Amino acid sequence: MNEKLETPGLVIRELPLKENHSLLTILTATQGVVTATAYGARKAGSSLSAGTRLFNYAHFTLIESRGRYKVDATRSIESFFGLSRSLEALTAASYFAEVLYDVCVTGQPDVQVLRLALNCLYALVTEKRPIPLIKAVFELRLLAESGFAPELETCGGCGCGDLAYFSPEDAAVYCTQCVQRGSLAVMPAPPGTVQAMRYIVSAPMPKLFAFSIGDASVQALHALCERYLRVQTGRKYETLDVYHALMDPIGDGGKNESDAL
Ligand SMILES: [Zn+2]
Repeated sequence: MNEKLETPGLVIRELPLKENHSLLTILTATQGVVTATAYGARKAGSSLSAGTRLFNYAHFTLIESRGRYKVDATRSIESFFGLSRSLEALTAASYFAEVLYDVCVTGQPDVQVLRLALNCLYALVTEKRPIPLIKAVFELRLLAESGFAPELETCGGCGCGDLAYFSPEDAAVYCTQCVQRGSLAVMPAPPGTVQAMRYIVSAPMPKLFAFSIGDASVQALHALCERYLRVQTGRKYETLDVYHALMDPIGDGGKNESDAL
């Protein structure tokens, strides 16, 4: 008996198969990550071609047979076509997709993660916030939604509120005195950065980007959210190297960061 699954979903991976078929990984609202074959999707004139491209958010009708899904129909909701106007935005989106593919679990629906992904792609397309800030918001909130929200209220060593550093390994903030006393692996976290992190982990999803932050704090936020994601997932992401090659081609901080793990 073939089961039909009707669900909104975001295409986070699109692999070409022979005979113009595509293998899709879809982040769905109801089933978590689903893998489905779109037969003939890359053929000119296919009714599936528009709704099955990478980053397409669409209403999917999937047919399940013996544990495998095939795409029966799609109705596009948001194509995020605007990503193709900016190589930087497209590269950041590709990184988001790779991380989602790694972090999200089959059969475990997570509407908040789907909403986070959609919000961040929308922010990239509309260009209302800088790309490094959008990337940091994506990384930190994704970890928080996955059960890895850091402790950001008081110093992890002495409990004081005079915070100056963040430890990605401990998922905690520290004061200067505790850092000087111990051998903690920490990164600078100016007050504006810590405030932004608190906002990002707890803000209602529609207001995720409604906070202000200075340029220096964005730099610190960008560095420590990336490090936090890499420490917590223990993974190396190829698209992150591409992102750094594009965004800071002269500096080598991102490349070294990747190699360090
Ligand atoms: Zn302390």
